[in-house]
Amino acid sequence: MQEAVRTTCAYCGVGCGIVATPTGPRLVSVRGDEAHPANGGRLCSKGTHLGETVGLQGRLLHPMIGGKRAGWDKALDLVAKRFRDAIDRHGPDSVAFYVSGQLMTEDYYVANKLMKGFIGSANIDTNSRLCMSSAVAGHNRAFGEDIVPASYDDLDAADLIVLVGSNTAWCHPIVYQRIQAARAARGTKLVVIDPRRTETCEGADLHLPIRPGTDVALMNGLLAWCNATWTIDRTFIERSITAPEGFWEHIRNGHDLWTTAQTCDVEPALIKQFFEMFAATPRTVTLFSQGVNQSIRGTDQVNAIINVHLATGRIGKPGAAPFSITGQPNAMGGREVGGLASTLAAHMDFAPDNVARVGRFWAAPNMATKPGLKAVDLFRAVDEGRIKALWIMATNPAVSMPDAGRVRDALAFVPFLVVSDIMANTDSSTHAHVSLPAAGWGEKDGTVTNSDRTISRQRPFMALPGEAKPDWWIVKEVGRRMGWANAFAYDRPADIWREHARLTAYQNDGQRLLNLKDKATIGNEAYEAMEPFRWGGRPFADRSFATPEGKARLVLTRQMDVQPPLKDWPMTLNTGRYRDQWHTMSRTGLSPKLSRHREEPLVEVHPQDAAALGLADGDLARVDTAQGNSVFRVALNEGQRVGEIFTPIHWTDRTSSGGRTGLLPRPLVDPHSGQPGFKSTPASVTRVETEWKGFLILRGET
Ligand code: SF4
Repeated sequence: MQEAVRTTCAYCGVGCGIVATPTGPRLVSVRGDEAHPANGGRLCSKGTHLGETVGLQGRLLHPMIGGKRAGWDKALDLVAKRFRDAIDRHGPDSVAFYVSGQLMTEDYYVANKLMKGFIGSANIDTNSRLCMSSAVAGHNRAFGEDIVPASYDDLDAADLIVLVGSNTAWCHPIVYQRIQAARAARGTKLVVIDPRRTETCEGADLHLPIRPGTDVALMNGLLAWCNATWTIDRTFIERSITAPEGFWEHIRNGHDLWTTAQTCDVEPALIKQFFEMFAATPRTVTLFSQGVNQSIRGTDQVNAIINVHLATGRIGKPGAAPFSITGQPNAMGGREVGGLASTLAAHMDFAPDNVARVGRFWAAPNMATKPGLKAVDLFRAVDEGRIKALWIMATNPAVSMPDAGRVRDALAFVPFLVVSDIMANTDSSTHAHVSLPAAGWGEKDGTVTNSDRTISRQRPFMALPGEAKPDWWIVKEVGRRMGWANAFAYDRPADIWREHARLTAYQNDGQRLLNLKDKATIGNEAYEAMEPFRWGGRPFADRSFATPEGKARLVLTRQMDVQPPLKDWPMTLNTGRYRDQWHTMSRTGLSPKLSRHREEPLVEVHPQDAAALGLADGDLARVDTAQGNSVFRVALNEGQRVGEIFTPIHWTDRTSSGGRTGLLPRPLVDPHSGQPGFKSTPASVTRVETEWKGFLILRGET
């Protein structure tokens, strides 16, 4: 048996530490790392069964050109040439990268540097756009920077935890276990705000099943209540917070308890109970996730939450903060190095002095000077033929983007499409001109940053299979072949890490919280041995903020009118995850144990709606929206609000002939963040009368 290796889980933003012990070729036993601050040895079902997912079934093992095996040199030369040709003929904005929160920070860094500093465009966006970009925009508006003002330790110190738009028990199970431990140890209260009654609501002190998209009304109502009950921290407000003109007048008018209850469609007594609990509990953490972010008003919803914490002084202290929990293992790492089209690097934006500073550091010949296309706009540009060369890394937008059918069709017409992935056949690689085999979990070597800014190492414990290569290596080889050999002369991830750390400290006047100066000269051995660490300390403990005026900003947010049901689409579709599956199941679908939890994609319907629609439990039903349709198995669920349905995001054309949730949501986005609204699409449901072959769940198995 080989030595145990300390690494990090491949899945969610909790970022649990794992001890992986290889037990044979492509065999590994996995346990939680007791020394990791995120999980203290605990693992959820997905992490526990990681060992079942490291086989080579379905893996891409060799570079392919036009579906035929090719050597690395030929494939990389072709990628470099076709990107160069597109740039020469159509300009740098005619090419794009679409990357992933599955990448290591080092991978992200190299891809970002190539696109923004050398190609000269900011057309690099990430699937994290679909996950937490509204939180980024909200943080920037409130704090003047994208900093998460909490850590997991705050859950242990809180007296009240409010979960907004998060099925934490399923989507961030170790965070949920930590909350339950706090409840057992110190009687911490738990409030869940979610249109659905999910497993997270079991045992909660209070559940508010609000009408979807009324979070702003609820939080403004809470702020009005705090203002009226003298819960506002006036000293803090005077010293450390600015408010736009008319802010308090806006809060005082139209946000009384009764109006709030009516807008949110929740009993006034329940709303009052929540307001009283919040007002009475200085140590309150509000965790929010996709129910808040994945909305066309996501950024306002984030700021409405932050407003309450700022105005009541529930920030910068133990057990008191708003806390965005991210979906992916390295969504935060991407934010740190500029994986979003709207940021530059090291959390900098495209202000001219930032562009100049990063350009100096990189000695960049072609610095991008403005933000690039965000995910939905990027694929719209693909659809309209404006993108001549596209490189998709470690993600499957033909399934995961809203209106995914249109994205899938558009990919067929990209003049040059590159897909680097661990899997040989994905919905997005069907039309790839070049497919490049990438390293997977257990082979990757680099760092990831979890939701509370803990940076951890992912370490390899298996050899790269076939001719697979790490993503950073693939990108730097293309950079070299495009003529920038010196700028991409990396031999190992530690080289990239040092450069990234140096950039965070370069001509940095000390104002930015992301400053990894002490890591900039780290040796290779120290990088190998690097223990998990959290950057940024406790943000705002000194009551100062990164805005020019040094103060946090309250943001005036207005509740948008709630649209009545449409005649043709009378239901509202909400989408999300299952407990034991991850994204498009390319990894979790390999585990028979994980697949037992939910063997089919279900459309969850309230019994009252089911009766009206003539549906029984176990029937098949077609869900239609203006974008597309797909068939699901019906599950009656009294936890659904009447008029609302829920479907899971995981099933793809390759895993099933039904259950394709990605085909259904509208490609509408939040105006500030560009994050799509996956949570409330007008839909209809119809019983399917015909024979049905059944759903497929495991790759290649019925
Ligand atoms: Fe992995 Fe997330 Fe589960 Fe932790 S909670 S084991 S990071 S999936």
